[in-house]
Amino acid sequence: MRKLASIQKIKNLEPIEGADAIEKATVLGWHLVVKKNEFQIGDLCVYCEIDSLMPNKPEFEFLKVRGMRIRTIRLRGQVSQGICFPLSILDASVKVEEDVDVTEVLGITKYEPPIPACLAGIMKGKFPSFIPKTDETRVQILQNVLDRYKGTKCYITEKLDGSSATYFVKDNIFGVCSRNMELEEDNANSFWKVARENDLENKMKLLNINIALQGELVGEGIQNNKCKIRGHKVFFFTAFDIDNFRYYNFEELENILQKLELPMVPVINRDYILENDIEAIIKLATIKSTMDAQAWAEGIVIRPYDDKVDAELSNTFSNGRITFKAINPEFLLKHGE
Ligand code: AMP
Ligand code: MN
Repeated sequence: MRKLASIQKIKNLEPIEGADAIEKATVLGWHLVVKKNEFQIGDLCVYCEIDSLMPNKPEFEFLKVRGMRIRTIRLRGQVSQGICFPLSILDASVKVEEDVDVTEVLGITKYEPPIPACLAGIMKGKFPSFIPKTDETRVQILQNVLDRYKGTKCYITEKLDGSSATYFVKDNIFGVCSRNMELEEDNANSFWKVARENDLENKMKLLNINIALQGELVGEGIQNNKCKIRGHKVFFFTAFDIDNFRYYNFEELENILQKLELPMVPVINRDYILENDIEAIIKLATIKSTMDAQAWAEGIVIRPYDDKVDAELSNTFSNGRITFKAINPEFLLKHGE
């Protein structure tokens, strides 16, 4: 699970041009605006990431106008992502140490967008345990990964703003899942509709292996359909070998999708040498969508050309799979996220 709130160090403080009362702080790989003189460099604070949904308590009252959700904002020209609170908001029982997760003790939950009717579906069962759920970690908390993997050949895809879809064939049985559960077949459900439109069951069975394909379902009624897509479509970003519990690498993924004539998420760079520079990666993510030149892309996803699983990171995120997202700050500002 993602740490929405944790104890972190103020890494840097810099003035903001034309502003006397506020300054720019750096925490992890994030930049945010803080009140001047509230913190000193090196201080510990409680840092809450964007998408934190704060509980209804007096100390968070000021967030009521924003629906208690911490969002990306711009103050005096400075993009601000997240909020730093003084340690005094913590109960005396909390161990004060860098990186300690305080999400639960503060009663913070993650903002989740409402599920549109076309995606709701009827639950058939839990998400299958033989397939990992889709997830991406934000680059801002991955300085250690960049330190370790800089120089690695990667590919970059556009991050589409839809809903996660998983299709699998195991022992000749076809299954359809939303992000968190398996779904009963039903004509009103878009995950199933798209599966039938793409003839997924027959195509996947032709491969004669136990395999999962994971992609993003986008289109009308989903996440405000910011790229104005007609109907519903799925674009794939992962192929998973169920029997060997292994992700296929980029080349294998491309080959499988080509063979089955299924679309992949837009590839925007197939030869990117990973830089140890969060700022530079956020710049790469600040682009218009390949689906709609008028719309900001939500961001990018970066993965090594040859899939890598890092045992040391296995309990930190994505089962240790090296894959992460960089979200376009302009997209977040534009859509109030
Ligand atoms: P988030 O939407 O912020 O929860 O980020 C993770 C999700 O992004 C994944 O679970 C996928 O559903 C989705 N996603 C959209 N586009 C991509 C892509 N190109 N590569 C990987 N995941 C993607
Ligand atoms: Mn999403």
